[in-house]
Amino acid sequence: MLITHMGWCQSTLRIDTKAAAPFDTTFFSNINTQGLYDSQLYWQNWLIRKNFEFEKNRGELSMIADLKALHPYFRDKMFLLIAKCKAKGIQIEVVESFRTSTKQAEYFGMGRKYTRSAGGNSKHQYGLACDVVPIVNGKPVWENKALWRKIGVEGEKLGLRWGGRWRHPYDPAHFEWTNGITTQELKAGIFPKPTHTNYPCLDEDMAMLKKVWQTWEKKQKEAWQQLQDKEKMVSASSEIP
Ligand SMILES: [Zn+2]
Repeated sequence: MLITHMGWCQSTLRIDTKAAAPFDTTFFSNINTQGLYDSQLYWQNWLIRKNFEFEKNRGELSMIADLKALHPYFRDKMFLLIAKCKAKGIQIEVVESFRTSTKQAEYFGMGRKYTRSAGGNSKHQYGLACDVVPIVNGKPVWENKALWRKIGVEGEKLGLRWGGRWRHPYDPAHFEWTNGITTQELKAGIFPKPTHTNYPCLDEDMAMLKKVWQTWEKKQKEAWQQLQDKEKMVSASSEIP
């Protein structure tokens, strides 16, 4: 089913119902009734996560955790992954989806435990990567390898690349999809295209999405500047004897 929104065509994965994929379309009808796609304030409606929300230090800047922030094809795969896990009794939450260059730079400054990618090198910056965490009894579970494997296998069945296969670093929270597109190509503005025809409006969707990403880039750059200014003021005042 293709759901169209005002102005934003919003390509959607055509679900094969025979495959009994649990896909919740209420999400899309909900955002449709909000009529926010064309609004300049649409970006403000994205789900964000605060630092330590999942009990880990993820830096001062908020994380964007909205699946709408992702490339439409990858977004739908992530919806499916969440649904597939749910069907297996595993609750997963999105920790971070799209990442601004300012946020990426913050991680880079936090050390190699956080990222080895400098600005422009993370798939998150192109809406093609997403971090999740399983929730057990209301708590995030980061260290359960068997549980991660179950989630990872579900992602791989959907054609996603899973960071749990990597050793440097082992990153089981991370899923990505690039359809073979390299980081260099992404940097040059080339985005992957699904090989099937279920996304007839992909170019329009991507153009709109890129505009929203730019708004976030601007907002987080300003937020980062404010944090730096505040730090400077604090250290200046502490120098007063
Ligand atoms: Zn990641």
